[in-house]
Amino acid sequence: MPVKLPEVYIGKNAVSELEKFITKQQYTAFTLVTDENEYEALGREVETAIRKIDRSLRTIVLPGNATPDETYLIQVLLEPDERRRVYLGVGSGTLTDIVRFCSHRAGMPFISLPTAASVDGFASTGCALTIQKYKQTIMAAAPVGIFADLDTLTHAPRPLIASGFGDMFGKYTALADWPISYHIAGEAFSQELADRSRRALQTCVDQVPVLHDQWETAMHKLMEGLVEEGICMLLQGNSRPASGAEHVISHYWEMKLAREDRPPVFHGAKVGLAAILVARYYELLRQISREEALERLQAARMPSAEDEVARIRSVFGPAAELILAVQQKALQQTPEQFARMCRKIGDSWELIQQFAATVPASAEIKDLLVKVGGATHPSQLGLTDTDVHEALEYGLYLRKYFTILNLGRILSIPKPEGVF
Ligand SMILES: [Zn+2]
Repeated sequence: MPVKLPEVYIGKNAVSELEKFITKQQYTAFTLVTDENEYEALGREVETAIRKIDRSLRTIVLPGNATPDETYLIQVLLEPDERRRVYLGVGSGTLTDIVRFCSHRAGMPFISLPTAASVDGFASTGCALTIQKYKQTIMAAAPVGIFADLDTLTHAPRPLIASGFGDMFGKYTALADWPISYHIAGEAFSQELADRSRRALQTCVDQVPVLHDQWETAMHKLMEGLVEEGICMLLQGNSRPASGAEHVISHYWEMKLAREDRPPVFHGAKVGLAAILVARYYELLRQISREEALERLQAARMPSAEDEVARIRSVFGPAAELILAVQQKALQQTPEQFARMCRKIGDSWELIQQFAATVPASAEIKDLLVKVGGATHPSQLGLTDTDVHEALEYGLYLRKYFTILNLGRILSIPKPEGVF
């Protein structure tokens, strides 16, 4: 089935473009969902515009900075009345995910009005929700339209903008992990989408040196890049063109912070920081010769399913059953399959090195993050050495896909600690 792509507008006067779109689509009734800050930033303007063209409108203003958990989802889901209403999500990534989920479950389309170039998920179908303190990607639907108002984007809080860049810099490591997984674990891969994702990344990286002199253009390009990543994910049908080990690490932190009732951290801030760690992993991988790799593969032992289950139970507590379900296939791996995978790694060593060579040095990623005002040390995000260590040790259980975290484990690559 061909993927239906959203109508995208990024530029000045996005609200007038929204009005034209609504008229063309003949939508008549709306539920606008926003939070207190975003209402001031753009929500009120959207509300006025919708009332002006005489459409029925209900507005839900969530308190504070809404998080995508049960409390807020229920609040939005309980609101619908007897009219069928198109949802308008005015806000950054988190708010968009709440609306994406609720509109899908209500069987209605939604239109996204991002207020900050903070994350690449605006166009995607999946929403990152935290249910029972466990971060999950739940399938919903892509928006029918994305209208990003440039004036609003340029006035977004700096940490959100740094988060958008951090999410983009994570593509460096994601785009090495993905083809490696294709060659080693047989994951579906698209060179065309990998190329598109890399071009979007490069466009955003090109903005870094001119960021302060050409702020408006940079915000435009950053948002374009983020939306393009979302489109790549939409076309691939999963997040792989835009996520790898750095996202796995970020998810681990997110879950742990939620479980321990610690303050949440912006998605891209975590991804950017994790990209430094994963880039260091790639540096360590690049130092391994084929000969040494073969020796390490010879010594590699498949962990027993029993040990893995016990490990997952001890680390993840109440979320363990969900994670065991994610790992179901991996836990059924036979010694023969493991041996075959090791042989593949050895046979593909040159290729793996070619992909590893596309990842910049960790210091380079750190430098990019410094220039955009992003965090380059865990303590800046309230994360401890233990959080870093655990994410590197146990993060790989959170996703089905193969990343350098899996490869590093097979090859006994030491954990890239002390990189900050
Ligand atoms: Zn991301």
